[in-house]
Amino acid sequence: MIKTLKYKKLAEFADNKAFIYTAYITLACVFTSELNIIHTRFLLGAELNAVSFITPALAGVMFGYLLARIKLMGDQLKEQAFTDALTGIYNRLHFNRLLESEIERIKRYGGQLSIIFFDIDHFKQVNDTHGHPTGDLTLQELAMVVSSANRSSDIFARYGGEEFIIMASSTRIDGAMEHAQRLKQDIEQHRFTIGRVTASFGVTEFISTSDDMNTLLERTDKALYQAKSDGRNCVRQL
Ligand code: GH3
Ligand code: MG
Ligand code: MG
Repeated sequence: MIKTLKYKKLAEFADNKAFIYTAYITLACVFTSELNIIHTRFLLGAELNAVSFITPALAGVMFGYLLARIKLMGDQLKEQAFTDALTGIYNRLHFNRLLESEIERIKRYGGQLSIIFFDIDHFKQVNDTHGHPTGDLTLQELAMVVSSANRSSDIFARYGGEEFIIMASSTRIDGAMEHAQRLKQDIEQHRFTIGRVTASFGVTEFISTSDDMNTLLERTDKALYQAKSDGRNCVRQL
């Protein structure tokens, strides 16, 4: 009896407009909240998709940039290790390395090699008269004059302040002397910013049966000293 009454009241309540409105509003709220969740999930999903797309792309760009920077720094360090900062040609250290390996190769497999060593005449006067920056410019100009006259196989380096050296592979003394004479002329005839510049040359050929790098360079140095003693702007061989 009581149960029947309850169901009756419930039925009456369900029939009530308030119930219907409450049911509508509840359903609407649940639906909206569900929609919100779905929407949020969709958005989150969309964001995740964007993030998962952008992150690797950004990481890729940054990684690529980092690699490029490292490679550039490596190249710069390599270049600094190999070249002379002022003239851009090889430095003494790298020249010596190349000469050492060429000597090893010749001792093992045979071949010829000559060295041309030269030094600008009265360069101290250039600095004293025109200043150190103009002295630097003269060194750069000379490196360019000689570079353009060298063969591509010649190894050309700045050996000291105003001293330069050339390793002429597969070249006997006669060929090296000819090349040095031509360089002497090219330098003498070139119009430098400061005017006329001359250099003195020492030339020698590697003797594979008795030479090592030190004896070869000592002989080249003596030949250059001879050229200086003989009045400069000349080529001497030993
Ligand atoms: P010599 O004919 O006997 O070779 O005389 P020199 O004056 O050329 O030789 P010395 O050794 O007396 O002077 C060399 C000069 O080279 C002195 C030094 O200041 C200059 N020098 C060395 N390195 C550089 C450089 O990088 N830049 C400039 N501007 N001058 C340099
Ligand atoms: Mg000099
Ligand atoms: Mg010198």
